[in-house]
Amino acid sequence: MLNSSWILIVLGGCVLGMVLASLHHRRRLRVACADPGSARRMGSAVSDLHDRFQLEQESRTEEQVLARRIAEERATRFERMFTSFDDPILVLDRHGEVVEANPAALAIAGLDPEGCAVDAVHPQPLSSMIPNRVAAAEIHTLSRNVMESGAEEFRRSMFELPNDGGVPSTRAFEAVIRALDGNGRTLVVLHETTREREMARLKSEFVAKASHELRTPLSSIRASLEMLSDGEFQNLEQRTEFLGIAMEETDRLAKLVNDMLDISCIEAGVARPRMGCVDLGDLANEVVGGLRAAAERKSVDLRIHAESGLVVDGDPEMLAAVIGNLVGNGLKYVPEGERVTVTVDAEDLTRSVVVTVTDTGLGIPPEDIDRLFEKFYRIKRYERTARGTGLGLNLCRNIVEQVHQGRIGVDSRLGEGARFWFSVPASHPASMAA
Ligand code: ADP
Repeated sequence: MLNSSWILIVLGGCVLGMVLASLHHRRRLRVACADPGSARRMGSAVSDLHDRFQLEQESRTEEQVLARRIAEERATRFERMFTSFDDPILVLDRHGEVVEANPAALAIAGLDPEGCAVDAVHPQPLSSMIPNRVAAAEIHTLSRNVMESGAEEFRRSMFELPNDGGVPSTRAFEAVIRALDGNGRTLVVLHETTREREMARLKSEFVAKASHELRTPLSSIRASLEMLSDGEFQNLEQRTEFLGIAMEETDRLAKLVNDMLDISCIEAGVARPRMGCVDLGDLANEVVGGLRAAAERKSVDLRIHAESGLVVDGDPEMLAAVIGNLVGNGLKYVPEGERVTVTVDAEDLTRSVVVTVTDTGLGIPPEDIDRLFEKFYRIKRYERTARGTGLGLNLCRNIVEQVHQGRIGVDSRLGEGARFWFSVPASHPASMAA
């Protein structure tokens, strides 16, 4: 009884609710019919909502497209950087196998970048990419160390590879190994150090040769002074002779030191040339005038064909040193009675002034000609003909090429003399008229 009355109450409530709801709906309809503006407002609210939803949808898609494009561009940029690096770069996986290699790395392995795939699908053993077994094994071990030590760690390894018939016979590399990501991949960047190694070798060769050259006059001076202090001279003539030797060797020493300093200042770019307008015709006449006495002493016929007005921008003292060196060599290396001729000409084609020193002396052996301008280089068979340091021509080359942006050279036939020349850009069109 109680239950049925409850059901009735609930059902009654529902019916009442339905009646009330229908009455409310009808009222709304009536209001809507009575006010068409309200219906329009409702419709436009719905369409606004729809538009906003669509806009949001579109902008979200645009953002995704933009993000994808940025990611693609970044990937292309990194790919381009990776492939265009001159330094060989390798990526190793957790097993130490190569899964990425840029073209520079493929080149040192002797692989063709077009026809060779190195990637996660085609990994290569490190030893096939670095053709030096010991170096490959060391880099392998170091990459494991780096992987175990954490992201900030890196290791270095130095090694050499054969230079396939090139000079020098080996190429030097330094490998820098870093962790690349949390998946055990490592990055190996190889930096070629052949040039640095060559520079270091040349430097120590220079020091060794310079010390050797300095030692000779120093021992000679010391020997002369020892004899003087021991009173080992029988007469004044002998004493004067040994003092003369000591003086001569001191001059030689001073020249050697000055030449070395001048060369290293120019090479280091710290030389301070006093540039100005230099008439090379006048300068050559002046220098040759100063060497006439020496030429006469050796009975060498010293001639000059140079007119005034051949002007260049240069340091007069340095250019005089070049002419003096070339003419001085001519006098040193020609036998008595031979000829040394100096000419100064304008060269229209290159708009420069050319100074030529030609002699009728011994000439240069073909095997020596390419090395003549190297530091301390002297032709073995002429070492007894005249004394020298082997620095004169190197200093000339530095003055002409580094300080004056000119050119210097030599041509010769053994036994028929030599022709040394240098050219410096003309400073004024008027100088070309001569
Ligand atoms: P140095 O004359 O002091 O030895 P240089 O650098 O001026 O040094 O010359 C280098 C070498 O070139 C000389 O030792 C000599 O063997 C050779 N040489 C230079 N000029 C001539 C020349 N006119 N004829 C033959 N050999 C020359």
